[in-house]
Formats: sequence, structure tokens, C-alpha cells
Amino acid sequence: LFITMEGIEGSGKSTQIRRLAARLTRLGIPVEVSKEPGGTPLCRELRQLLLEPHPSGETWCAKSELLLFYADRAQHLAQSVLPALEEGRMVLLDRFDDSTRAYQGAQGISDAVLDRIADLVLGRVRPNMTIVLDMDPAASLGRVEARNSAAGDFRETRFDNEHLAFHQRVRARFLAIAQKEPHRVVVVPAQDGPDAVEEAIWARLTPLLRT
Ligand code: C5P
Repeated sequence: LFITMEGIEGSGKSTQIRRLAARLTRLGIPVEVSKEPGGTPLCRELRQLLLEPHPSGETWCAKSELLLFYADRAQHLAQSVLPALEEGRMVLLDRFDDSTRAYQGAQGISDAVLDRIADLVLGRVRPNMTIVLDMDPAASLGRVEARNSAAGDFRETRFDNEHLAFHQRVRARFLAIAQKEPHRVVVVPAQDGPDAVEEAIWARLTPLLRT
């Protein structure tokens, strides 16, 4: 089984992946947990290139950024995800193709372009289930802000209206994907406490475990 977890920053993806993996492991289900970008050693180099500001101040143009995210995905699929699935392990990913559709789509890359590159990189590979952790970005970015300032990291703590509007577009794109592909994508409200979200995810996932 191939399961992906999606959502805007601060929606609780990493916490819920950790809890879900622990629960599956307790049931004796072999599970491989990974993330995008950055799921292999080379992919971690790409993640750094994508996310760390460059000292020169140069930033990626939208097209190069898109290609780097897909380079990360192609490498991760080839090196890690597909071999694990072939060996019968369950794969649990923190972000996958829907993140690109949501984030790079919200940056202005058209669905037609996304379809073409996804066709090249994914072929027929699709998650069996995608969980979208959904919440209001005003609240989720507040969580990110609290987390960062607790860690003494003030880099991402400043968010203005444009930032918020961007995350609102990203959220809307995740919800639109869920509406378009209801058989694959389930939306789980993520503003509640971690225990409630964990139970909601578990309720959606267990039917798949029986098949
Ligand atoms: O969730 P994670 O920390 O891995 O996300 C890293 C960052 O990359 C996030 O800030 C997210 O906004 C960004 N991202 C992106 N486009 C993607 C995937 C992630 O802009 N396709």
C-alpha cells in the first residue's frame, strides 16, 4: 500500500505520520516512512537547494523550482518508494505529487504543464490513499510560528498578507484535488488535537488494511 499525507505547513503531517507508523508497526505491518523533498541522500541535497536561501540572493525561477521538485520525486521513487512497494512494504510519505500540484500550481504553473511532467515522472504510479490534513492557514501558520520561536528560529515567523493569501490558495488547491479524486483523496479536519486527528485518520485507513 502506498499512502501519502498532504496539507499546508503546520497542519500536523509529521506528527500524524509518526503516530500512524507507530500504530501500523504495533500491528506487525512493515512500513517505510519517508518525505518529499529529501527522501534519499541525494534528494536531501536537492531539498537544501530548494529550501535554503542562497547566499547570493538568487532565487529559483518557477520552472527550475518545478523541475527540481520533480527531480527529487523521480529519484525518490526509483531509489526508495518503488523498491519498498515491490518488496511488499507499506510506504507512508510526508508530501508527494499533490504538494507540487498545490504549491507550484499556486505559484502559477498550469495544470497542463503539471500533467505533462507528472506523466513523465510518475507514469502510472498513484498512491492508494492520500490524506489531506485540512485547516485554516491563519491557524496552521500560527502553529509554525510558535514552533519556530520555541526553537529560537525566527526565520519563518514573519508572515504578511501575501503569505497568508498564498497558503489560502494552496489549501484551496488541495481541496480541489480531493473533490476531483474522491476515491483516492480523503480530507481530514486538522484543527483538533493530535489524538482526535489520529483517530479520524485511522478510521479512514483501516478499510484499506482489510483488502
Ligand atoms: O513539509 P516540509 O517541511 O517538507 O516542506 C518544506 C517546504 O517546501 C514547505 O515550506 C513547503 O511550503 C515547500 N514545498 C513547496 N512545494 C512542494 C513541496 C514543498 O513549495 N512541492
